[in-house]
Amino acid sequence: MTMLEDRSTTNAKLNSKVPAGALADKWDTFKANAKLVNPNNKRKFKVIVVGTGLAGASAAATLAELGYQVDAFTFHDSARRAHSIAAQGGINAAKNYQGDGDSVSRLFTDTIKGGDFRSREGNVYRLAQVSVNIIDQMVAQGVPFAREYGGLLDNRSFGGAQVSRTFYARGQTGQQLLLGAYQQLSRQIGLGGVRLFNRCELVDVVVIDGRAAGIVTRDLLTGQVTSHAAHAVVLATGGYGNVYFLSTNAMNCNVTAAWRAHRRGAYFANPCFTQIHPTCIPQADETQSKLTLMSESLRNDGRVWVPKNADETRPAHQIPEEDRDYYLERLYPSYGNLAPRDISSRAAKRLVDRGQGVGPLKNGVYLDFSAAINRLGRNVVEERYGNLFEMYERIAGENPYQVPMRIYPATHYTMGGLWVDYELQTTIPGLYAAGEANFSDHGANRLGASALMQGLADGYFVLPYTISNGLAPLLNKSVPGTDHPEFKRVEAEARDRYQAYINVKGTRSPDYFHRELGKIIWDYCGMERDRNGLEKAISEIPALYDEFKKDLRVTGTGEGVNQTLEKAGRVDDFFQLGMLMCKDALTREESAGGHFRVEYQTAEGEAQRDDENYCHVAAWEWTGDANNATRHEEQLSFETLQLATRSYK
Ligand SMILES: Cc1cc2nc3c(=O)[nH]c(=O)nc-3n(C[C@H](O)[C@H](O)[C@H](O)COP(=O)(O)OP(=O)(O)OC[C@H]3O[C@@H](n4cnc5c(N)ncnc54)[C@H](O)[C@@H]3O)c2cc1C
Repeated sequence: MTMLEDRSTTNAKLNSKVPAGALADKWDTFKANAKLVNPNNKRKFKVIVVGTGLAGASAAATLAELGYQVDAFTFHDSARRAHSIAAQGGINAAKNYQGDGDSVSRLFTDTIKGGDFRSREGNVYRLAQVSVNIIDQMVAQGVPFAREYGGLLDNRSFGGAQVSRTFYARGQTGQQLLLGAYQQLSRQIGLGGVRLFNRCELVDVVVIDGRAAGIVTRDLLTGQVTSHAAHAVVLATGGYGNVYFLSTNAMNCNVTAAWRAHRRGAYFANPCFTQIHPTCIPQADETQSKLTLMSESLRNDGRVWVPKNADETRPAHQIPEEDRDYYLERLYPSYGNLAPRDISSRAAKRLVDRGQGVGPLKNGVYLDFSAAINRLGRNVVEERYGNLFEMYERIAGENPYQVPMRIYPATHYTMGGLWVDYELQTTIPGLYAAGEANFSDHGANRLGASALMQGLADGYFVLPYTISNGLAPLLNKSVPGTDHPEFKRVEAEARDRYQAYINVKGTRSPDYFHRELGKIIWDYCGMERDRNGLEKAISEIPALYDEFKKDLRVTGTGEGVNQTLEKAGRVDDFFQLGMLMCKDALTREESAGGHFRVEYQTAEGEAQRDDENYCHVAAWEWTGDANNATRHEEQLSFETLQLATRSYK
């Protein structure tokens, strides 16, 4: 690459490699200058893609379609079980089909502002540009997006936007998109372009002479530990929201792949930037192990309110209008019920903390569809959200067509992740990260319907270009095979690690430790953080981690299916990540997006950024001690947009 902008960083490894030139031309400039690999040479390169969610499946299918040899890995039985399948509400794209004023530049602006000015302009603009291609790609694959009466694709609105740019397939958008990407993956599996390794978990990354040489995996059916070598490795392994134990993520989402890469030299960026989603079904009791999302799309037609009086005892339908507080509409009139997630979540928490919560535990707020049903009719509401209403009724035991849903914020998404440059390459050359696994384009808060957009942008439209730039110089050069001593050493380390979990023979399950860890992180590094709490967490987590090492009980052996053993490895990594999250939150002495430090708020209780000292990405380097990582900074400069205080009023 030529024409790289000279970005000032305090660490040479944190060169963002954003091309110079006008924002709108950067991606074209990159593509025009990127090194290519000719079609006959592509088959000489092996690329490992770990993860078969939207980011991984789209990357693996496209790279194979281009001619690279791809080995794809997932710990699931089927590629289709990736957590992406759970996505409900929709996917953004700046198509302006509604003619309501949308454009690439508006999507870019909304995303940067939504992320509270803590993301890179160059990356975000590219994301907005390629968003339009994603929809065409997915329609061509047969994804049944909702259509209007005339047959055109329909859109709805999501938080933090004043246009309707969200494409959807009822409340099952992720499922339909993943089926589309999976079809393409399957086609390549059939053609021999992709070899799929299912029930196979990445347990380490192998780095030789400073370059990613491959991965070490554990077969979840046999316990066999094996090495796989490649010219490049892509981690598309999802987010780490389950560090909180209770979250809307699929039960087995975890941080292991990203964390093991971090321990081998990949910097971990902004781990404290986590998203708490405002509309989830409130926790019903202490023993619950999963929380359920009610898609943000519901806020298109649902109105959020609480009783004005904390002592209110009447059922919702008997509370007259004048005794209700439609607090989002009152506080944020221009965005109303579609205020961004971080802001809506904090508003709900404040009211519940003040005693205005609803439901048997007074731990929720109402999301009320009565006005929409009166205005549009039940049929229309059912058409738009039918499956979500059904899911709610099954879980909460109440019919949301008749009584308002009860909702409360829950952990949902992680903006932090592996630091990547414009090419999606981590600080380990040859190791890339895509989708939720990278620290992404969402800054300190992700707008709704933008995760699917980013995952598919990374897999279909970014990596295929950037990876050739990295691979071309390796043509006809030999790369280490799995017989290299480093592969053997890392394999042995992995075997020893899993055996060590079995050998502890203590009294407590991995789940016990996970729940306890999650409580600490939720209490002190959740929706609100402060210095005292974070310091408390930083002292409590190592003590609990010591107990984990001494008192863990893993039943069974390492030679067959053993989910307790799998979980032990994942909880081990969550402990180390948890320490880093709290350290990151403590060091970032400002509030930005989802990172709300109570010490830094405006008189109106909104997040108060400190652009002078914290307008940067914090990227952490592993030092061998989870509680003592080294912090580096990538400065963020805003050339197109002016740093401004976010307002949704
Ligand atoms: C309930 C819910 C609803 C959502 N709805 C929306 C929405 O409407 N719109 C939107 O934009 N976003 C939504 N999101 C967010 C979005 O779904 C995710 O951010 C996105 O799907 C992540 O995709 P991914 O490909 O990066 O990772 P994932 O889909 O999480 O896939 C990760 C893959 O990595 C594999 N993997 C992980 N670790 C390992 C390992 N160590 N070894 C081997 N394989 C491994 C897994 O098997 C899996 O295949 C929602 C999230 C939730 C929780």
